[in-house]
Amino acid sequence: MRVTQQQVLDALSRVASPRGAPLTNANVLSAISVTDGKVFFSINVDAAEARAWESVRAQAEAAVRAIPGVSTAMIALTAERKPGAPQAAPAAHRHAHGVQPASAHRPPQGAASPMSKQAEIPGVAAVIAVASGKGGVGKSTTALNLALGLRDLGLRVGLLDADIYGPSVPRLTGINEKPQLNDDRKMIPIKRFGLSIMSIGFLVEEDTAMIWRGPMVMSAITQMLRDVAWGTLDILVVDMPPGTGDAQLTLAQNVPLKGAVIISTPQDLSLIDARRGLAMFKKVNVPVLGIVENMSYFQCPECGTRSDIFGHGGARHEAERLGVPFLGEIPLHMSIRTTSDEGNPVVASEPDGPHAAVYRAIGTKVRDQLQGAIAAA
Ligand code: ADP
Repeated sequence: MRVTQQQVLDALSRVASPRGAPLTNANVLSAISVTDGKVFFSINVDAAEARAWESVRAQAEAAVRAIPGVSTAMIALTAERKPGAPQAAPAAHRHAHGVQPASAHRPPQGAASPMSKQAEIPGVAAVIAVASGKGGVGKSTTALNLALGLRDLGLRVGLLDADIYGPSVPRLTGINEKPQLNDDRKMIPIKRFGLSIMSIGFLVEEDTAMIWRGPMVMSAITQMLRDVAWGTLDILVVDMPPGTGDAQLTLAQNVPLKGAVIISTPQDLSLIDARRGLAMFKKVNVPVLGIVENMSYFQCPECGTRSDIFGHGGARHEAERLGVPFLGEIPLHMSIRTTSDEGNPVVASEPDGPHAAVYRAIGTKVRDQLQGAIAAA
């Protein structure tokens, strides 16, 4: 059954805003996206009023979900602080899924970690971020293969593709089905390779994902973290959007991270970017579990000979200099690329090969640092 925008508007007109006017007359709705029964939009309000709007967001979501033919409704409450307005209480925007500009979140120097206040995700022992200072360094490829390496260690592992600007997990895993909803109306992550996987790319077309406005990034990701039935997981690996801008900083602050893994290539520029990544996590008191050097050296597919054409080892030195663990070197190898592009990552497709061993070794170093959190859960 085809759902129309008019049906969504009709449903929303029956939801009252905090001041009583119908939601459709409150001048707070973004454009409404309706594709294949999936409805997305945001309610944009002043941060000072965010708390009052949370129940409206929930009612709007329920009203849209009740429309016959709607399979998914994802409604974000974005709360933008007006210049000069006082800062809303942190609880208001946390509960409201709303976000303020990252600058408003920044803790004063030496303040207690905002992470300590983040609500854990029920059933998930440890959430970790895989981040990079810039795009194209192999962050997503590494996140997926690391998740598989952790799986091989006997852990229950999930993967959340939080790169909503350019989700690549659907391509890397070959998943093109849509998540179903359970009885609690939570999205059921897709099971593939023994991982529980969720990506905004399962829900929207790639170009739709690109148009999310800054503040919506966080609310979309919060919903993917909290409105997904993750079940019981030892580790949830979050593939972060590339870069170290405000969106990434806000994300690092708002997700209950137990640690971060930074991916870099040996080229100097990328190492500089990696340093920015380190600084970003330090700022929000998220422990850096270590640096991975990707495309570290070239391994000849025919003879297996190794050539250090990029002057590899920069990331190891950098890690030593900065006092963070060095997690390992992944070669630049054709089969890592081709297996990724075919949606059959190398750890799954060549489990006995040398690359899988590298990812498992990195996974072991990550697991060892999270042992406490996993055991506590
Ligand atoms: P990012 O997430 O940093 O943008 P991707 O994981 O999408 O990067 O990787 C970018 C490209 O590099 C992809 O085509 C991927 O297959 C390839 N790639 C990543 N790591 C390696 C590697 N170690 N060897 C060969 N190709 C790689």
